[in-house]
Amino acid sequence: MTQASCRLTTGLGLALTLSLGLGITAASVPAQAQPATGKTELYWFGQAGFKIKTPGGKTIVIDPWLSGGPKTPAPYKTDLSALGKVDLLLVTHAHVDHIGDAPAIAKAQNTVLYGPADMITPMNTLGLLPPNLGHRFNKTGHVTPLPGIKVTAVQAEHSSLLVYNNSTTGKNESHPAGEAMGYIIQLENGFKIWHMGDTGLFSDMKFISEHYKPDLVLIPIGGNFTMAPDDAAFALKTWIKPKMVIPMHYNSNPMAKGTLAEFQAAMKGSNIKIVPMTEGETVQF
Ligand SMILES: [Zn+2]
Repeated sequence: MTQASCRLTTGLGLALTLSLGLGITAASVPAQAQPATGKTELYWFGQAGFKIKTPGGKTIVIDPWLSGGPKTPAPYKTDLSALGKVDLLLVTHAHVDHIGDAPAIAKAQNTVLYGPADMITPMNTLGLLPPNLGHRFNKTGHVTPLPGIKVTAVQAEHSSLLVYNNSTTGKNESHPAGEAMGYIIQLENGFKIWHMGDTGLFSDMKFISEHYKPDLVLIPIGGNFTMAPDDAAFALKTWIKPKMVIPMHYNSNPMAKGTLAEFQAAMKGSNIKIVPMTEGETVQF
C-alpha cells in the first residue's frame, strides 16, 4: 500500500532500567537495533508509537505513525527501513495515528500485523493488507508470536474507523474497523507492559491491572479523544496502581491539549514512578 492509497494518522516517546523489582535508571542508547542485552528498551516515535527492544533481542513495533506523524524523529519520518527487522507488529485500532505505516511495514518485511479482528478483515477485503500478513484476534485473546513473548488483547474504551482512499474512484471511504483494544505485552523475562491504546475511563482498568499485573503502563493523556491528564491520574491512582507509567498520546494533535506538566501535577503525591519521554528518546528497564 502506498501513502496515497490509504490515509491513516499519530506520534510520542522515553527510557529506563528495571531489574524486575524497582530501580529505574535513565539511559541514553542509540535508536538503532541492538543485540540482546537482557534489558527492555522503549523508543518513542510520538503519539502512541513505540519500538520495544526485548530482553531476548527481538524488536516489537506498535502503532507506527511514522511518515505522517508531526513529531516523528529522523530517520523514521522518511525511511521505514531504518526500523531494521521488525519481529512483531501490533496495532491497537484503525485510526490513522495508530495504523499509520503498519501495512507498509508488514508488506515490506513480510511481517504479520496483529490487530483487532474486525480491523484486519476490512484491510484484507479492501486489498490494503494480504490475508497472510494479518492476524485477527480480540479482547481476552492472546497470541504467542515469538518465543517467550505473549500478547493479550484487553479492553479500551474508544472507537475504530478505517479511512481508505479508493484508488479507482479517487475518493476517501470510511469503513467500520471493529473495536479499539489495548495490549498486555509480556516479555521473555516476565516484564509486562500495558499499552493502553486510545481509551477513555472505564472501571475495569482495575480488573485488568489486578488480573494481569503490568509493571509498566503506557497511558494516553491528551484528552478530547482519550483520557486527559486528570482522568489518567485518577485511573492510575485509583485503579491501576502500577510501578511505572509513561504518558503518551499528547503533543501531536492540537485537539488533544493535555500536557506532561498537567499530568505530573495531577499525579503529585503518588508513589507511581512517572517516566516522561520526548519523541526520539529511548528508555531502558
Ligand atoms: Zn483513536
